[in-house]
Amino acid sequence: MDSSHPQEQHAETRLVTSGRDTKAQKGFVNPPVFHGSTVLYPTAEDLHAHRGEFTYGRHGSPTTKAFQETLMALEGPQCAGVGIVPSGLSAISTTLLSVLKTGDHILVCDNVYRPSRNFCNGMLARYGVETTYFDPLIGAGIEKLFKPNTRAVLVEAPGSQSFEMPDIRAIAEVAHARDALVIDDNTWATPLYHRSLEQGVDISMQAATKYIGGHSDIMFGTISANAKAWPMIAEGIRLLGVCAGPDDVFLALRGLRTLSVRLAQHHRSGLDMARWLAGRPEVARVLHPGLETDPGHAIWKRDFTGASGLFSIVLKPAPQQAVDTMLNTLKLFGMGFSWGGFESLAIPFDCDAYRTATKWSPGGPTLRLHIGLESTDDLKADLDRGFAALKAAM
Ligand SMILES: *Cc1c(COP(=O)(O)O)cnc(C)c1O
Repeated sequence: MDSSHPQEQHAETRLVTSGRDTKAQKGFVNPPVFHGSTVLYPTAEDLHAHRGEFTYGRHGSPTTKAFQETLMALEGPQCAGVGIVPSGLSAISTTLLSVLKTGDHILVCDNVYRPSRNFCNGMLARYGVETTYFDPLIGAGIEKLFKPNTRAVLVEAPGSQSFEMPDIRAIAEVAHARDALVIDDNTWATPLYHRSLEQGVDISMQAATKYIGGHSDIMFGTISANAKAWPMIAEGIRLLGVCAGPDDVFLALRGLRTLSVRLAQHHRSGLDMARWLAGRPEVARVLHPGLETDPGHAIWKRDFTGASGLFSIVLKPAPQQAVDTMLNTLKLFGMGFSWGGFESLAIPFDCDAYRTATKWSPGGPTLRLHIGLESTDDLKADLDRGFAALKAAM
C-alpha cells in the first residue's frame, strides 16, 4: 500500500481520486473485480521468495488494494494500514484477538455495540482476558480503572443506541500514559466526520456494512491502524485467515466514492428530523449529539465535523403495544437492525437489558431512527400518521 497521501486536498477530493490507476485499468475509471485464489509466479525463484505484488487470493488483489488506498487517504497520514474483514463484528473480534493475550485486561465503554460485549464476555473470557465496563461519561476518571495488565480501551462515540458521547481525547491521554491501546468503533461518523486516528485512537474500526457500503447490500468490515498498532493487526489478519469477497470489496469501494454526498444528506436530514421530533408533544427527549441541547454536544462539536442519520428518541410513557401499533403504521420507516443504507428505519431498543457499569433509565419507550435519503417532508408525514396511531392505541 502506498503511504503517501495528498493531504493538501479535501477529504471529498481524496475519496474520488485515491486508489485509481487509470493506465493499469486500460482507461476505465473503476478497477475490475478480481475473483481469485491462485496467483501464479513467473519463475521458481519468485515462488521460493513469495515475490510479487500479489501472492495469494486471501492476501489481497488489485480490487482490495484500490479500496485500501482510498480508505487510507481518507483516514489521513496517521493511518499505516487498512485491514479488510468480512463484517463489522469481525473487525472488532479480529482487532481484539490481534492485540490481546491471556492475562490481559481490557476496559470497555458501557455503550458499545452489544455483540462487542458478547465477544468480550464469551470468547475473550474463555481465553483468560478480563473485561471491565466503564461509564461512557467517565472522561479522565478512567484512570482509576486501570490495572497493571490493562492493555486496551474499547470505545464507541457516540454509542449507537443511547448516543452518549465519550471523551475519546481525555481517555486516550490516560491510556497512552499507561501504554494501553485505544480502539474506536467509528461506524457512526465514519472517518469523514470523525478523524479518530488524529485524536489519539490507535485502531479505528468500521462496520463498512453501514455507511461505506451505503446501500444495505453488503457485509464488510475495516480496521485502520496507526504505525504502532498496524503490525499487530496485519499479523492477526494473516494468522486468523480473514478476508472479504471481491464483489463486496468492489461495492464498498463504490460506496466510498459517493460517501461524502450521502453522508452530507444524512447529516442534514437527520438534524432536521431531530429538531422536528424535539418539538413533538409525544417525544420526551431526542438523543442526538448534534443538537445544541444534547449533553454530548460540546464533545461532538470539538471532535466531529458532522453527524450521520442515526439517533434515538425517548417517547412519553406509553404501553409497548401502542408503540408497536405506531411501528406497524409507518410506511417509510422499515423495521430492521442494520442502518447506513439509503432507507429510513425505526426500531425499539432497551439498553438496560445489557448495560452493567451504568443504569440507563430513559423514563419512556425508546426508538432508534435511521434517517435515509427520502424527503424529510414525507418522513414527517409518515411519523405524523404513526403518532396518531400511537395516541389512538393508548
Ligand atoms: C452494525 C455494527 C457493527 C457490526 O457490523 P456487521 O457488519 O453487522 O457485523 C459493529 N459496530 C457498530 C457500531 C454497528 O452499528
